[in-house]
Amino acid sequence: MNAHARPLPAVRDDALATLSALGVDLAALAGADVPARSPINGEVIATLRATTPAQVDAAVERAHLAFLDWRRVPAPRRGELVRLFGEELRAAKDHLGRLVALEAGKVTSEGLGEVQEMIDICDFATGLSRQLHGLTIATERPGHRMMETWHPLGVCGVISAFNFPVAVWCWNAALALVCGDPVVWKPSEKTPLTAQGVQAVFEKALARFGDAPAHLSQVIQGGAQVGAALVAHPKVAVLSATGSTAMGRAVAPVLAARFARAILELGGNNAAIVAPSADLELALRGIAFSAMGTAGQRCTTLRRLFVHEDIADALIGRLKAAYASVPVGDPREAGTLLGPLIDQAAYDGMKAALTEAQACGGKVHGGERVDRPGVYVRPALVEMPSQTGPMLRETFAPILYVVRYRDLTEAIALQNATAAGLASSIFSNDVRETELFISDIGSDCGIANVNIGPSGAEIGGAFGGEKETGGGREAGSDSWKAYMRRATNTLNYSRDLPLAQGVKFDV
Ligand code: NAD
Repeated sequence: MNAHARPLPAVRDDALATLSALGVDLAALAGADVPARSPINGEVIATLRATTPAQVDAAVERAHLAFLDWRRVPAPRRGELVRLFGEELRAAKDHLGRLVALEAGKVTSEGLGEVQEMIDICDFATGLSRQLHGLTIATERPGHRMMETWHPLGVCGVISAFNFPVAVWCWNAALALVCGDPVVWKPSEKTPLTAQGVQAVFEKALARFGDAPAHLSQVIQGGAQVGAALVAHPKVAVLSATGSTAMGRAVAPVLAARFARAILELGGNNAAIVAPSADLELALRGIAFSAMGTAGQRCTTLRRLFVHEDIADALIGRLKAAYASVPVGDPREAGTLLGPLIDQAAYDGMKAALTEAQACGGKVHGGERVDRPGVYVRPALVEMPSQTGPMLRETFAPILYVVRYRDLTEAIALQNATAAGLASSIFSNDVRETELFISDIGSDCGIANVNIGPSGAEIGGAFGGEKETGGGREAGSDSWKAYMRRATNTLNYSRDLPLAQGVKFDV
């Protein structure tokens, strides 16, 4: 800690004061099943009540009743609620960002950044509420008009992961609400408090809005079983699930069996390629943020690096220095860049991956546990002889595997040779290389960047990935379409009834 800085408040006191400032009534939520821990020191801040299966059912039924009213409200008026929510988020930004730091362990600027992402998607969704456009389509029949119209779909269930405890819900909820769909949210059991903080802020917007139907947004608490009850409910029309590929494997068949809409945002095993023409200074900064930011606990975290052999020694040398000096500590402290891992299981996974990497011939730099309460580690840089072993799977911790390459086509093939397909990037100043990388025969990921790392997306683009990442898209572009049903309308304003394709049926 900076010698002149004020000492940080005790974690539990800090969290309780922040929750109270946000308007969360903890006493009303207290129970025995969902302990809310801060990874900053492992302390339990509060224990909440889990939602029972019967209560999940009741919550979805209430949301469905809200849907029957909300779908009749004009979309721009629905947008007004989201606009007000954005205003309330602006007012609550510091407190909510602090709560993200306290409960998810993100450093202060990332906690605030997550809330900024919520504000950004609210602005986007407010504008969108006047742009839920359909097409007018040329028809082959005279005196006819054909068009597409978009309509509210039904209840939207959201299951979220611990590492983006507030933004992911908002990507879904802001769009769902302007599209006419009430939301039932099952946050991660590792971050139950931030969900209550968000709900308290949302209720302030609801109070200002005035005449919204009750139960437009509800939070249910608990682990996989509570999530499973939401997934199975026949009145959840669209379910957005963010988390591991293992979770997606459990959820997807249940949704498919009842033909529900699925938005799956699952694990990633993201890569970057550094070509000989790259600006190494810029590449170093891009790699450092993408690989070490959020202590390697982003779905888009850079985990695999392919470096051209001509520049490998220079870049790896500088990366080693950055890895050895990056400040690890309390995420609330100014200057900290790496906060804690979420729990002991995350560290166990990291240790197992590093041991396996060594057995595969990998040379490990860093990765040691830092001696302080909570689970803190030095980030690990691992020079691998080839892409093998733990490099082929996602380990949710700050490990960056580095492999040298000679030929770009070979590097792109390596980058695509994993099961996940979320985010990727190339550092190069050669237009032939960069265009190849983002072309039909380049990266197979949902995100393919040039001269920035794979992580840190902004909300204007559609976010998501291919293959075992699940194929879902959230946030910007036309992601809103997943929350609405499309109708094709053909209107006849003639006195005849010509049939399509020249069919005759004269009775
Ligand atoms: P996790 O899979 O353990 O849990 C995610 C959520 O799913 C939690 O709310 C959990 O309770 C719920 N869940 C788990 N099993 C379930 C089941 N069978 N039915 C219903 N719900 C179930 O993931 P985590 O450890 O919280 O988060 C880390 C993972 O999430 C990583 O794999 C990361 O890549 C991924 N992630 C992906 C994205 C994305 O947008 N692609 C974003 C953030 C995190």
